[in-house]
This record gives sequence, structure tokens and C-alpha cells, in this order.
Amino acid sequence: MALPFLPVARPSITDADTEAVLSVLKSGWITTGPKSASFEDEFARLIDCRGAVAVNSGTSGMQLVLHALNIGPGDEVITPSMTWVSTVNLITIRGATPVFADVDRDSLLITPEEVERLCTDKTKLIIPVHFAGAPVDMSPIREIGRARGIPVIEDAAHAVGTYYEGRHIGSVGTSVFSFHPIKNMTTGEGGMICSDDTDFLDQIRQLRFHGLGVDAFDRTTQGRTPQAEVLQPGYKCNMPDLCAALGLSQLARIEQMNARRVEIAERYLDRLSGHRLLKPLVPPPHDHVHAWHLFVVRLDTEAANMTRESFMEALKTHGIGTGIHFRAVHLQKYYLENGCSRGTLPNTEWNSDRICSIPLYPDMTDQDVDRVVDAITTVLAPVTV
Ligand SMILES: *Cc1c(COP(=O)(O)O)cnc(C)c1O
Repeated sequence: MALPFLPVARPSITDADTEAVLSVLKSGWITTGPKSASFEDEFARLIDCRGAVAVNSGTSGMQLVLHALNIGPGDEVITPSMTWVSTVNLITIRGATPVFADVDRDSLLITPEEVERLCTDKTKLIIPVHFAGAPVDMSPIREIGRARGIPVIEDAAHAVGTYYEGRHIGSVGTSVFSFHPIKNMTTGEGGMICSDDTDFLDQIRQLRFHGLGVDAFDRTTQGRTPQAEVLQPGYKCNMPDLCAALGLSQLARIEQMNARRVEIAERYLDRLSGHRLLKPLVPPPHDHVHAWHLFVVRLDTEAANMTRESFMEALKTHGIGTGIHFRAVHLQKYYLENGCSRGTLPNTEWNSDRICSIPLYPDMTDQDVDRVVDAITTVLAPVTV
């Protein structure tokens, strides 16, 4: 009998999660309300930040941030190309110019040296990405921003459970988290903006809901505020209570879920390190706790005499799912047709052609991990002499 297919990721959903969502469904208030408010409070407690604003995706969160910072034509925004497409798309839609920082070849993290090199008079924002659960070396990057008066907004989509120099990512400065189902915890879809700047958060809160001073459900009046007025044109990015209830329930288990991710990653590292044809990412040297959002390997396509795509296809025939996190943004059709080209970001491109994420999610058993490693061994066997 065939073993079940192991996907590259799968959300961990318990009966408690299901009950939490059902009780909101039955409560008579399913959009933004008391659950969303307590999810913001509880999440801010985990992060140890001054405040948090819940939104309907990480992308929405970044959209509000770019609007609040008035990023527009003529502005340059430094960010990696080795990331999910969302941030770069948003920068482009606003008429600003993404300036791509190449990443470290083995951690896929941007470096302070590269950021410094790319800063110009037009640089209006720096957006580091904490990749796969490992943090960027933030202290020197914050220093570059401070010295030049450039704000730094962290893409923390992979960083629920990531600590840098003893503090959770998001406790200093401003960060945007994601609760997409692939991430370390989920709300179905959702995101959170965490900041130590409460004025900035007030601005984000307003932009989140039509530019009104309040939400549909006001925390203080516990109901609708009839006279809410538009203070500035805003968006519609609030998180419904239906999602926030799942977030609260997931948050109660986040440490447990992340601890299991660490065990799985360590088992992979133990069995795959020293592999002749596969190189896992290397955690950065600075002080950190890794959230192990993804387990990424790079296939030595030359020595294996196999493309990354045929490697992924072969694993699929063994019932193993894989993913690519990520194909470099500057190599995607639109960006290649609009001024970007190959040959500009060597480390990003080298990895973009070779990376592959293998299954990593809290509900995997040790046997599942071994199945993945055994399938990899079988697939690469003809050349592993
Ligand atoms: C998932 C992700 C996002 C966007 O999050 P959504 O909630 O899906 O909008 C942004 N950046 C990175 C690096 C991501 O992986």
C-alpha cells in the first residue's frame, strides 16, 4: 500500500482550533471585533513590542506600511530579490524603484555591507527579509538606517519564533508578520504589524479600515461608532474575528509547534549534512534562535547531472512534496521585461536555480523525516558513488 503523500508544508490544526473558530461563527459577530483585539494584545505579548495591528495578510500589512511612509515615484527601496514577490510588487505599484540587495550565498540573508553599498540620496526605505526563520544581522543595518535617516521595516513573514540578540524579531523597530497557512502559525490568511512606534501604529490602524478613526467594532464602545468619519482615504485590510480566533488558538501552541520544527530540522541536518550533492542553508553566525520556517537545500545540479526540476519531479514519484522558496523576483517575466537582467545578483541567482524546500511542518513524524531523506538518497543514488 502506498504511503500518504508528504506535502512540503501543512498547517497544524487541532480540535481546539476548530472549536475556537466555530464558537465565533455561532457568536453573532464574525468580522473584526473582540477576538481580533485580543489577538493583537496576545501577539504583542509574545513579540514583546509596544503594539500590534492585525490585518488580512502580510502583503496587506506591507501595503499599509508603504502608504504610511509615502513611498512613491523617485524613491528607492532596498530589499532582496530572494524573497516572495509581494513586497517588490507593492514597491513597483507605488511607482518606486526596488533596489535589490544580493544575499549571502549560504544563509540567503542580506548583509550590512551590501545595504551600505546600495544606499543613495534616493533611498527611502530598507526592507530586510528574515529568511526561512533565520534573522538578518539587524544591529548594523539599523545603524546604517539611523545614520542616513532611512527607515527600516522588517519582513518578518518567516519569523514567528525568531530571536535576534536575545529579543524576538519585532520587539525593536517595525516588522510585518504573515499568518498564511504555510507559515509557522496561521489564521487562514492574515498578518500583523508590530512596532515600538505607537503613532505609526495609529496611522496603520486608520489606513487598515477606510481611513476611519475607528474599526467597525470599537474597543471602547464595544459596538458600532455611528459618527466615524474618513480622516484620510484608506484601505480595507482588517482581520475578521473568524481568523483571529484561529490565531489566538494557534498562539497558545506556537512554542510547542516551533519546538517540533527544531527537532525535525535537526534530524534533517544530522542526516543531510556532509551530503555530496545537497547543501542545506547555513544558519548565520550572529546570536539568534532559528524558527525553522523552511528547510531549504541546494542541489549541486552539475555533479548530480540533474536539474532541480527533475529532482523535484522524482521526489514527487516517491510521494514527497517540495517547493521553491524562492525564484528570484528580478528573474520573473515582468521584471525581466522591465529593466532587470540575469547576471546582476550572483548569489541570489545561483541559489534561485538550485534551491528546493523539503517537507517541514509540526505534525511530521520522525518516520516521515526519514522517508524524505531515504527518497532523496534513492533519487540521487545513480550519481552518489
Ligand atoms: C508569505 C510571505 C509574505 C506575504 O505574506 P502573505 O500573508 O501571504 O501576504 C511576504 N514576504 C515573505 C518573505 C513571505 O514568505
